[in-house]
Amino acid sequence: MKIGWKKVAASLVLVGVVAAMVCFLQEENKSTTRSLFAMDTYMEITAYGRNSENAVEAAVDEIERLDALLSTGSAASEITMLNQNKTAVVSEDSAYLLRRSMELWKSTGGAFDITIYPVMKSWGFAGDTFRVPTDQELKRLLDFVDSSQIAYDEETKTVVLPEQVEIDFGGIAKGYTSARVSQIMEEYHIKSAKLNLGGNVQTVGTKADGSLWRIAIKSPDDTFPYLGVISVEDKAVITSGGYERYFEENGIIYHHIIDPKNGKPAQNGLVSVTIVCEDGTLADGLSTALYVMGKDDAITYWKAHKNEFDAVLFDDTGMLYVTEGLEGSFMSELEYEIVSEN
Ligand code: AMP
Ligand code: MG
Repeated sequence: MKIGWKKVAASLVLVGVVAAMVCFLQEENKSTTRSLFAMDTYMEITAYGRNSENAVEAAVDEIERLDALLSTGSAASEITMLNQNKTAVVSEDSAYLLRRSMELWKSTGGAFDITIYPVMKSWGFAGDTFRVPTDQELKRLLDFVDSSQIAYDEETKTVVLPEQVEIDFGGIAKGYTSARVSQIMEEYHIKSAKLNLGGNVQTVGTKADGSLWRIAIKSPDDTFPYLGVISVEDKAVITSGGYERYFEENGIIYHHIIDPKNGKPAQNGLVSVTIVCEDGTLADGLSTALYVMGKDDAITYWKAHKNEFDAVLFDDTGMLYVTEGLEGSFMSELEYEIVSEN
């Protein structure tokens, strides 16, 4: 039998095309996961698609860069230097966070206040040696908890702090980091990714199969496996809870979310606050702020800003409140109340 060279060539081309297609599809279905410890917490980044390896590598670099820049726990960070020297020309990242923090401080009536740092230190939350400060000590420190004392020149990016004032982006930095990592995913044309920064989750697109991400909200204790599950796409789902960092002394639990009104762990009836919105920075800042505010003020705040975010609030009587934008996407075995505008 005579085989024409044209036929052979055509078959080879076909085999080549099929092989290339298989390779392409394999690359498209590829996923990359990296775990790391940064910002005092365990993080996991997963991205899908042909570019996932490069994207995840760039994401890890960005997290490490922001950790070194923003962390009050690192002696050489920009924020540590600012707190020490009282003046600095800050990076774009710190300038952005300063602006967002000031906006939140204003809109939350001072519930979110980055000048809380001297109080955090007095409780020992800046390190590992916890203690209960006296009322007198807190009263003295509260004179320096006031974001209006931060002088910031937007044009020159110069920050000046009065002698005793110190700042801490601990309540907002992880959300900003997840927002930055989402941007990186977009730059790498990643259509599907999940960023878990110590329980603060940000999703990029949908799951690789096109279905929604299902994000579980941690239970504050062992009573249930989780409070509920939220189905989302392209959203940050960020939770604040006193259970995340606390110590116990003489049978009393003291946690790390401080009420700037009295310098003490916020005790306004909430045990867990989850914020759902596209903007990770906002979600993080608000989860801390609404926790401080307590249920009634948190709901009033949501009503005034309902186009910006949704929330799941869990209070110390075991009641679960879910704002109406999450109706249909929130599921729970627990009873819950939908909060609507009226
Ligand atoms: P989060 O887990 O996002 O609620 O952040 C808690 C962290 O935010 C604490 O560990 C502090 O670093 C910081 N923080 C505590 N209380 C406040 C507050 N009232 N306003 C702003 N930041 C706070
Ligand atoms: Mg927060």
